[in-house]
Amino acid sequence: MTEPATGEEPMALAAARLRTAGMRVTVQRMAVLAAVSEAACHLDADALRRRAQRVTGGLSLQATYNVLRALTEAGLVRCTQIPGHPARYEVEHRDNHHHFVCLRCAAIRDVECTVGAAPCLEPQLPTEYDIQEAAVTFWGVCPGCRAAAPAP
Ligand SMILES: [Zn+2]
Ligand SMILES: [Zn+2]
Repeated sequence: MTEPATGEEPMALAAARLRTAGMRVTVQRMAVLAAVSEAACHLDADALRRRAQRVTGGLSLQATYNVLRALTEAGLVRCTQIPGHPARYEVEHRDNHHHFVCLRCAAIRDVECTVGAAPCLEPQLPTEYDIQEAAVTFWGVCPGCRAAAPAP
């Protein structure tokens, strides 16, 4: 986790990350990357758009998706697809972590990699396949939903 920053600092930090990744620095990219960095959880594009446009002014969802795709391709942001829900985004830490997803509220939280190095699962595949990563999603019910409506 990065320490919470306020004011200009997240934007400056985002600009530095963009430059390190060899990307052109734009206000939209800085604002979206800063929004991803400051989020304590995995947010979808619309939530990030609302945060980013405090800096950019009016920002369309399509523009937000375009920026997120560029940031993901550059390895700065990690995108997690959950069937039936919009993709969620977080800063890419290259720690090979997995996710728990609540079946009721779609809350998502990180689960440490059980082994620590990718790939952490050995699939039954012929050796001609070059396995580089295993992404595991654990599905279940989060504590909040369990408290609100315990299983019968
Ligand atoms: Zn839940
Ligand atoms: Zn995560």
